[in-house]
Amino acid sequence: MVKKLNLVMMLKEKWQSIKAGNRKLSQLIFSILVITALLSAGTYYLVSASGVCAISVNGEQVAVVKTKAEAQQILNKVLHLEGAPAGQVAVTNDKVGFTIIRAQTDNVMPQVVAIKDLDQKLKTYVNGYAINVNGSTLCTLATKAQADQVLQMVENNYAKPTAQQSISSVKFAEQVTVQVQQAQPEQLSGVQQAAQTILNGDQHNLDYVIQPSDTLWTIARKNDMLIKDLVASNPKLNPQTLLQIGQHLDIVTVKPYVHVIVDGTGSMTETIPYSTIYRTETSLPAYATQTLKEGVAGSKNVTYSFETDNGSATKNVVLSEQVLQNPVARIVARGAEALTYLGSASRGSGDVNGLIWPLRGPITSPYGWRDNHTNFHTGIDIGVGVGTTYVAAADGVVSLAGWDGGYGKCIVIDHGNGVQTRYAHSSVLMVNVGEHVYKGQPIGLSGNTGNTTGPHLHFEVIINGLTVNPLDYI
Ligand SMILES: [Zn+2]
Repeated sequence: MVKKLNLVMMLKEKWQSIKAGNRKLSQLIFSILVITALLSAGTYYLVSASGVCAISVNGEQVAVVKTKAEAQQILNKVLHLEGAPAGQVAVTNDKVGFTIIRAQTDNVMPQVVAIKDLDQKLKTYVNGYAINVNGSTLCTLATKAQADQVLQMVENNYAKPTAQQSISSVKFAEQVTVQVQQAQPEQLSGVQQAAQTILNGDQHNLDYVIQPSDTLWTIARKNDMLIKDLVASNPKLNPQTLLQIGQHLDIVTVKPYVHVIVDGTGSMTETIPYSTIYRTETSLPAYATQTLKEGVAGSKNVTYSFETDNGSATKNVVLSEQVLQNPVARIVARGAEALTYLGSASRGSGDVNGLIWPLRGPITSPYGWRDNHTNFHTGIDIGVGVGTTYVAAADGVVSLAGWDGGYGKCIVIDHGNGVQTRYAHSSVLMVNVGEHVYKGQPIGLSGNTGNTTGPHLHFEVIINGLTVNPLDYI
C-alpha cells in the first residue's frame, strides 16, 4: 500500500516536472520571439534614423542639429550676434543642454533656423553702463565712453559759453553715476536717444480736476511744471478763459530727471541812463512838461557772476562796475499838478482789482513827491537784495521787457482796462514781450540796474498812462 502510494506520487511528481519543463520551454520560445521582433524593429530603426544633437534651454528642446560640435557652434553664434551691438560676447544665465538623441534625419534643421530658434528662447546679457540718478537707472549704454558722452551732451545743452560769458563750473544737482550693470542687449540705448530721454524728463499723463481758487500758475506749481508746458500740453486750455471749478484737465506733467547747474562770469557794456531833474513851472498848464535840457546817457563796463538751473537764471550778481562815461542829467519843467507821463498805454475803465504784491519786503521809498518837491517818485521801492524773485501782480501781457533808461532792466505788464504795472531795476528778466503772464508767476529777479542808490524793486501801478499809488490797489 505504501509502495503503491509512493509510485503514484512519483508519477505525479514526474508529471509536474514535465509540466514545469514545458512552461520553461514556452517562456523560452516567447522570449526568442520577442527578441527577434525587437531586433527586426531595431534593424529597421537603424536603417531609417541616426544620432543627432538636441539643443535644450532650461530643459525645453528648441532645436535639433547634426552634431554636438555644430550645437556648440550655434550657441557661440547666438552669443556673438546678441553681443555684437555692444561690442561684446553676450552671456546667458539659462541652462543650455546638448543631448545626443536618435531622430529621423528629417528633424535636423538648417543652421540658420536653429540659430533663430535658439536666439528666440535664450535670454542673453551684456555688460551695460547704467546712468543712475539718485540711485535709479535712467538708461544703459554699451560702453563707459558712450555713457560719459551722454552726460556731456546733457551738460552741454545748458552750458554754452559765449564771447561775453565764460563758464566756471557745470554740475548736476542730483547724484549722477555710471555703473557697470548686466543688461539685455535690447535694453541698451544709443547715445543720441539716451541724451534725449534725459533731457525730455519724466512725462506723465494726469487727470487734474480744477479746485476752487486755482489759477494756471497754481496748477503748474502743484505739478512742479512751467505754465508754458502746462498750456502746451493742454491745447484746449485758453489762458484767457476762466477756469471752471470741477473742470477736468488732461495734463502732461514733465519733471526733469536732472538739474544742470551752471556757474560762470560775464562782462558787458551797459548804458548808464541819465537822471531827470524836474522843475516845477507854475506858468505851464497841469500835466504839461517841457524839456529844458536833453540828457546824455553814459556807459559802464559791468562784470557779473551768474548761475543757471537747466538754463533758467537763478542768480545774477554784479561783481564790479567800471564807468566809461558819466551821464548828463535831463532837465524838465512841468506844471504843478503834473504826474510823470508814462508813454503809451492801453486805455480803459481803469478798473483794478486783486493786484498782489510782487514780492515781500519793506517799503524803502513811498509813492509821491520827494526831495522837497523837486522829484516825483512814480512808484514804491521795496527793499530787497539782488536776485530776489518777484511775481506778476495780475494776469496780463508783457508789453516791455528790457532796458528802459533809469528804470534799468524793466518789465511792464498790460493787464487790460488801461491798467499796467511796472517792475524796475531788475538783475534778470524771465519773460519776453508779448508773453502772457499769470498772477503770481515769477517774472524776474530784483537787482540794482538803472538809476538806483542800492538794490530794490521799484513797482508802479499805471492807470490810463498815469501812475497811481500802488498801496491803494494791493
Ligand atoms: Zn523807485
